[in-house]
Amino acid sequence: MENILNNDNYICVAVSKTKPIEEISKVYNLGHRDFGENKVQELIKKQKELPKDINWHMIGHLQTNKVKRILPVSYLIHSVDSIKLLNVIDKESKKINSISNILIQLNISEETSKYGFLYEEADALINRDFLKKYNNINLRGFMGMASFTEDDNIIKKQFDKLNNFFMQKKKLIETVDTLSMGMSNDYKLALKCGSNMIRIGSKIFGERNYQ
Ligand SMILES: *Cc1c(COP(=O)(O)O)cnc(C)c1O
Repeated sequence: MENILNNDNYICVAVSKTKPIEEISKVYNLGHRDFGENKVQELIKKQKELPKDINWHMIGHLQTNKVKRILPVSYLIHSVDSIKLLNVIDKESKKINSISNILIQLNISEETSKYGFLYEEADALINRDFLKKYNNINLRGFMGMASFTEDDNIIKKQFDKLNNFFMQKKKLIETVDTLSMGMSNDYKLALKCGSNMIRIGSKIFGERNYQ
């Protein structure tokens, strides 16, 4: 487990959803500081109870009415999946005088997740004027979840395509530096395909009983 956590080549987000404070503390005490949650309420509760030097990553679908609450406690939002959400994050960040780090979620499997932009949509949105348009947003990059399949060829195609998109937008927008792809079952392949941020739950904390 410590193998996955510590590496110079990527950031590992330890996905602690459904796991209790004691389990998270054990990983924290190994020196790990990046943790991910997929529910706003759970993230906020854990953020309150755990040390304040943790970087909390919001990795699950985010409803616009919860943006206000998540902004002050999240380090990076991986799951920006609509223009509406983008607008609300920009507006709410402005109100609290901050600039929010976000990733645009791409629907790379077109079935595993029902969330995320299609490539055509994201391509139209992310042009040279993006940062000028969204003054209180720092676009750091992209997130995607591959299909749930045993077939590595399918997964590899999806990761390669997302990496190409990332490389192309990185040239266009100076703040883009992060590609969040890879979970417990496919992180090795994701890293080969150019990922520099992996989101690992069960491989660190053990299987979850639900979700
Ligand atoms: C739960 C979750 C993960 C981690 O999944 P594992 O298979 O347990 O590693 C990664 N990303 C997202 C968006 C998740 O919801």
